[in-house]
Amino acid sequence: MARRPLVAGNWKMNGLKASRAELDAMLAGHGDSRAETLICPPATLIAGFAEAAEGHALSIGGQDCHVNAAGAHTGDLSAAMLADAGATAVILGHSERRADHGESDALVRDKVEAAWAEGLTAIICVGETEGERDAGEAFAVVADQIAGSVPEGSTPDRTVIAYEPVWAIGTGRTASISDIASMHARIRTYLAAVPGADATATRVLYGGSVKPGNAAEIFEVADVDGALVGGASLKASDYLAIVAAAG
Ligand code: PEP
Repeated sequence: MARRPLVAGNWKMNGLKASRAELDAMLAGHGDSRAETLICPPATLIAGFAEAAEGHALSIGGQDCHVNAAGAHTGDLSAAMLADAGATAVILGHSERRADHGESDALVRDKVEAAWAEGLTAIICVGETEGERDAGEAFAVVADQIAGSVPEGSTPDRTVIAYEPVWAIGTGRTASISDIASMHARIRTYLAAVPGADATATRVLYGGSVKPGNAAEIFEVADVDGALVGGASLKASDYLAIVAAAG
């Protein structure tokens, strides 16, 4: 089953109105790619970016959403608001949110269902900490995260998994090719245990210090279907080089 690669950029809490120039450079330099492309800017930029990207191959996404559609939740954003602003996808359960906001697997699962209800693709992040890897717990941690965060009824068009070892995010360190290969293969077996999920057709991205210099080697791994890219997605030239490496 051929899975179309996805290169998703996570801008995190970076980007001001002036960053529109970087988006414009991405749109101008995009060209034809086999890969699906997605940029997730901070919430303040979603509507403007979505408008600018209209008619282009590149889509715009959010970085989080609340489980409720509306209500008394100061500072939060609902999936309906993201969709209304033009987002087509949302990153959920990123390790920074799990750490900074105490997000549990159960909360992430509820957010995924909220995203699906608004027609958004959920990019569900999983990954072990360095301590968990050193303790030999990486597979068990990721298995639990998949079991707890991916709701029943997951389909390949509305769910993407991003394997992001926490110790590789923003550190310049990437997991070894053999560690990436074995974890991605395991993730398919964990996904197969989720009722209704099509583990073979679901895309599994790698994330953690992906850059132009290492993307091609990572994309050659059989069970890697693209990347979730943080720092290197902030610059159009780096992002487009990673997209080009995806084919
Ligand atoms: C991320 O936070 O999703 C990420 C992968 O960051 P970086 O590429 O900067 O490691």
